[in-house]
Amino acid sequence: MKIPDKIKTNCPFCNKHLLHNVKINRKGKESSMSKGRRKYIEVKKGYGGSPRCPKKPNFKIGKRTLLLLECTGCKKKHQRLFSSRTKKTVEVK
Ligand SMILES: [Zn+2]
Repeated sequence: MKIPDKIKTNCPFCNKHLLHNVKINRKGKESSMSKGRRKYIEVKKGYGGSPRCPKKPNFKIGKRTLLLLECTGCKKKHQRLFSSRTKKTVEVK
């Protein structure tokens, strides 16, 4: 799915409709010792109950993407969730 690289939307800092540069906000690499990862390791070893079944298949179709919008007026950035789940990856034209 393709979206335009410039969108005219409201800027929460200027409180006006202005042109925004669009980028896709990619998730950074998860640290190996994050809370969820530590819990997962413990459960795998056999300690504690399972917070969620690790082998359960992911039945949600598609992924939701975060858009990073940069205001051309004040150069500040804010995020917006792309409205729906999409099977195809979202690309900026
Ligand atoms: Zn602004």
